[in-house]
Amino acid sequence: MRIDKVESFQIQWSPEDMPGTRSAYVRIHADDGLTGIGEASPMEGGRASLDMIANDIAPALIGADPLDHAVLQDKLLHRLMKLGPDGALTGALAAIDIALWDLKGKSLATPVYKLLGGAWRTAIPFYASIGGNGRRTVDEVCRVVEQRLRDNPAAIKIRMDGDRTTPDRDISGDIEKVRAVRRLVGDSFPLAFDANNGFSYGGAVRLGRVLEELNYQWFEEPLQHYHVRELGALAQKLDITVSAGEQTYTTAGIADLINAGVRMVQPDIVKMGGITGLMRCAALCEAHGVELVPHQTQPVVGHLANMHVCAAQAQATKPCEFNDPSARRHAIFANPPRPVDGLFHLPNVPGIGVDLLEAEVTRLRV
Ligand code: CA
Repeated sequence: MRIDKVESFQIQWSPEDMPGTRSAYVRIHADDGLTGIGEASPMEGGRASLDMIANDIAPALIGADPLDHAVLQDKLLHRLMKLGPDGALTGALAAIDIALWDLKGKSLATPVYKLLGGAWRTAIPFYASIGGNGRRTVDEVCRVVEQRLRDNPAAIKIRMDGDRTTPDRDISGDIEKVRAVRRLVGDSFPLAFDANNGFSYGGAVRLGRVLEELNYQWFEEPLQHYHVRELGALAQKLDITVSAGEQTYTTAGIADLINAGVRMVQPDIVKMGGITGLMRCAALCEAHGVELVPHQTQPVVGHLANMHVCAAQAQATKPCEFNDPSARRHAIFANPPRPVDGLFHLPNVPGIGVDLLEAEVTRLRV
């Protein structure tokens, strides 16, 4: 089997979509007619990653054996290092890796989780990841949480989604919101708080103490992602689990977080390494006794690829992330993953387990 063609495209979900809110996909065709689908991080529509795929990566893949995906990824990462080893390049290579695993699964008529060594569980609990709460009132936050509870999530994460340039913007308001959500869901329902890099060290200590008192399970990305030493120090100071890593793009970057003292890491399969990269992170975490709880907000290709990796891990301490409801879940897919009674069931079919609706791809692709 050889790679015959590499397609990279955005999907515009609705006519109102801005270019920056489109999704970024890659489809790889093999010479035997099989195809694999992959996804890159959609930041700014994934434009930079798609451009690299079309101009720099695809020409190097034509004629290659899809089963050489790890060799191809490492070769291209090093060859293209100066395009920026953190961000768009690793997102592009992640998309390629996921597509090649999908292709590998199809060519061997085997689900990806089997190729990863088998699943400890194929029914996967999820947590509802709720964005945009920095802009909401306390009451609005509670109403959205109520809506998401209808899906029976195993936990809820409140994301603040600030602009990263105004640390400690509204700590009192944040405290009101986390208290109100705790009151709403009861004492024991698992909750998490995602600061999205919104605090100073001192501000994070202050909020962290409140989250501890309220029995929140983890405190995500309290500081700027590049303040690795401080993230480690904060993780060691607070009793609540402090997590980081969704903006870390290499296995070595995850190792830096672990060495600094962070004990729960959240690499993202569509940003770093794809399935191959996340499995490497899993080995690193297992060796260091660190929780691996991948970040993942893309509801179909990214979500499925992530669940195959999570299913293959012996120690899954937290549910998988599942983002806010979105048209992204449906438009071009025949069988997008949907939760049933609070669980996603991994498809027992070759590859990652999703089929495209060709007419919709043609209609919506950019
Ligand atoms: Ca986050």
